[in-house]
Amino acid sequence: MELPFCESYKIKMIEQLNRSTREERIEWIKVAKYNLFKLTSDQVFIDLLTDSGTGAMSDRQWAAIMTGDESYAGARSFFELKNRITQLMSFEYVLPTHQGRAAENVLFSVLMKEGMVVPGNSHFDTTKGHIEFRRAKAIDCTIDEACDTSLNHPFKGNIDLEKLEKVYKEYPREMIPCCIVTVTCNTSGGQPVSIENLKAVYELSHKYGIPVLFDSARFAENAYFIKLREPAYKEWTIKQIVREMYKYADMATMSSKKDGLVNIGGFIATNNEEIYRKACTFNIMFEGYVTYGGMAGRDMAALAVGLDESTEFDYLETRIKQVEYLGNKLIEYGIPIQYPIGGHAIFVDATKFLPNVPKEQFIAQTLGIELYIEGGIRGVEIGTILADRDPETRQNRYPKLELLRLAIPRRVYTNNHMDYIAAALKNVYDRRFEINKGYEIVWEAPIMRHFTVELKKVV
Ligand SMILES: *Cc1c(COP(=O)(O)O)cnc(C)c1O
Repeated sequence: MELPFCESYKIKMIEQLNRSTREERIEWIKVAKYNLFKLTSDQVFIDLLTDSGTGAMSDRQWAAIMTGDESYAGARSFFELKNRITQLMSFEYVLPTHQGRAAENVLFSVLMKEGMVVPGNSHFDTTKGHIEFRRAKAIDCTIDEACDTSLNHPFKGNIDLEKLEKVYKEYPREMIPCCIVTVTCNTSGGQPVSIENLKAVYELSHKYGIPVLFDSARFAENAYFIKLREPAYKEWTIKQIVREMYKYADMATMSSKKDGLVNIGGFIATNNEEIYRKACTFNIMFEGYVTYGGMAGRDMAALAVGLDESTEFDYLETRIKQVEYLGNKLIEYGIPIQYPIGGHAIFVDATKFLPNVPKEQFIAQTLGIELYIEGGIRGVEIGTILADRDPETRQNRYPKLELLRLAIPRRVYTNNHMDYIAAALKNVYDRRFEINKGYEIVWEAPIMRHFTVELKKVV
C-alpha cells in the first residue's frame, strides 16, 4: 500500500479553543456591527481571518527567542537576520521594520510623491493605502486570466507585459518610482508569479529605467509553486529558486508575519545604496534604529530561523497540501472557489455562492457573516468593502471579484479542522437560495474602511 501524505512535524504545545452556540454567535456578530474584525478571539472557534502573524513557531524558533540579543545597536540577532536575508535573496542592505506596512511606509517615503503611478499585480490593500496616501496611483497590470475564477492557469499572479509597457509609455520615467510585484499575489487569490514572468518584468522595467520591488510576504510559497509548476525548476531546491527569483528584483518589502513564520516583524532589503541610505533616515524616524527598526532582538533571531524553515520543501509541502485539502473538499461539495487553489487561503466566489444578494449589499461580507453564525469560523471579505471608495469620485469601487477568503494559519490547525470548516460552508451552501438580503454601511473610516466599518442588516 502506498503510504499516505502526512505532516512533516509533530505538536509540542496546544492551545484551547472556545466552542459557542449559534444563538451566542448571532448576538455577538450583531454587537460587533456585523464586522468580523470586531469580534473578540474567544468568540471565534476557528480563526481564518488571516494567515498574518497567526502561525505557530517551532522549537528552534523558541530557542532563538531565548538567545536573542537586545543591544540597541549592532545586535547579534540583527546580523543573524541580515545574513539570512543576504543568503536567501542576495540583498546586502537590510532594514528591519515592525511589520510589512511599516516597510512600505519607510520605503515609499523615499520613492513616492504626489501624482506618481505605480504599476503592479493587484497591489495589497496596505500597499495601495500607502501609495494613495501619498496621492500617487496604483495601476493593476495583472493578467486577465486572474479574474476568471473557474480558469485553471498555473501563474495567475503574473503581470501582463502589454499592460505594463502601456504604463511605461504613457507616463514619464520620473513619474514611475517602481513596479511592484507581489509574490504570491494576495489580492488575486494567493496566486504565484513564474520566474519567466519575473524575468520579463525585470527586463522590460529596466529597459525603461524603472526598478522592480517585490512585495515579498509569501515569497517561499511562490517558490514552492515554481518548483511544482515551472518545469525548468523541478529539480531545484526552494532556496535555489528563491535566489533565482530575487535576481529579478532591485528591492523588497517583507511582512515577516507570513513566510517569516513569526508573529510580528518586517523588513526592507536592497542592493541600492542610495535608496538604503535615504530609507535609514525614515526608518530611524518611524521605526527605530537601523539594526532593530521596531523589532525586539529576540524577534529578529526567531525570524532568522523562520526564514530558514519556511524555505524548506517539507514544510511548504505540508502547508500547501493542507490548503489544497480544504479546497478539494469544497470542490467536492460543489462550492465555487478560485482555481487553482492558492498558497495560503481558499477564496470562495461569493457572487456565485450567493446569487440572490445584490452587489450593493456586500455579497462576500454577507457570506462571511453566515459562515460565522453557522460554525464560529471567521473568514474575511475581499470584495467591495475592502475595495473602498474611489479617492476622487468617492463612489464605491466594485471589484471584478467578490471573494470570501479563508486564510489558513501556518502550522496551527489539523485536517480535522479543515473537515469542520468544509462542512459548515456546505451547510450555508445548502441554504444559499434563502439568503437574499445583505448589509448596509452605518459608519466608515475615510481610508482602509474594512477594519472598522459598521454595518446593519438590510430589511
Ligand atoms: C500582509 C501583507 C502586507 C502588509 O504587511 P503587514 O505585516 O500586515 O503590515 C503587504 N503586502 C502583502 C502582500 C501582504 O500579504
